[in-house]
Amino acid sequence: MTAVSEFISHPKIDAHNHLNLGMRYASYVPWAGFYIPNFPRVLSGLPEMHEIIAQYTRPRCVDEKDVQDLISLAIKDAIADGVTVLEGSIDIGFVNQCGGIDPLLKLVEKIHSKFSSEINFKPELGMGKTFGIEKIQTWAPVLLESGLFKSIDLYGPEIEDGIEEFKNIYELAGKLGIKRKAHVGEFSDANSIRRLVEYFELEDVQHGIGAAKDDSVMQFLLDRNITLHVCPASNVMLSAVPSLDKHPIRKLYDAGLKVTIATDDLLFFNKSVSEQCADLVDVGMFTKEEIFSLMDKSLA
Ligand SMILES: [Zn+2]
Repeated sequence: MTAVSEFISHPKIDAHNHLNLGMRYASYVPWAGFYIPNFPRVLSGLPEMHEIIAQYTRPRCVDEKDVQDLISLAIKDAIADGVTVLEGSIDIGFVNQCGGIDPLLKLVEKIHSKFSSEINFKPELGMGKTFGIEKIQTWAPVLLESGLFKSIDLYGPEIEDGIEEFKNIYELAGKLGIKRKAHVGEFSDANSIRRLVEYFELEDVQHGIGAAKDDSVMQFLLDRNITLHVCPASNVMLSAVPSLDKHPIRKLYDAGLKVTIATDDLLFFNKSVSEQCADLVDVGMFTKEEIFSLMDKSLA
């Protein structure tokens, strides 16, 4: 067994972390005041995950204090894992809990400054495809123009219907120099990754593991210098890959692609960046030295 502590003490990024679900279950339970039955467990896919969110975690997040607590718990657990740069996603829906755009911006600023001596927290604006496009169209431009968000992300069902409704938001992000990311290729195929990267002019892809099945798509991502923020534990727990030793991250890495190792939703998948690094060494996918070099390149 590889010692996790060696990876904890090594500087690293977590660039795929949904902060509302970004804390350990052990951190969440005392705050939430309840247990989620038979949890964490391997899930059959995103629909089962969303059932748990709808039944347990979403109803527990009601007001601004809840948002503050959840984000703070996630940042503390990232610090505990030795994460030095955190591109942490803040869901646009939190405008509701905070009672407006300005209170959310003030809250993010407050949290950012609270942890600034311990971690380089770069707030990311996360948008759910199913949240409601009218609100997103009203709120996202104001949030992006605040200068507080360093990246933007889009998630939800991996379908392309309706993505045109986000095009102007990605164009604005591009103009403002905000890094453009989106979720794709977790379950969807390689060509869907190419199409989304082209359509939104993405710089980074959240997941993107589907690219491993198509050499021409890997070459396309390489040519465009795209970074993939890969979450091996998430992929195993959501049954996107059968087991860690069969994970396509090695193939992506061997193709020369820039990959980082990220948590996705620590609450659900229960593996920090450092633990995943140790696990990937233990299953023989990478040597320790390769992982250290991957971590260093992720920060470059
Ligand atoms: Zn994700």
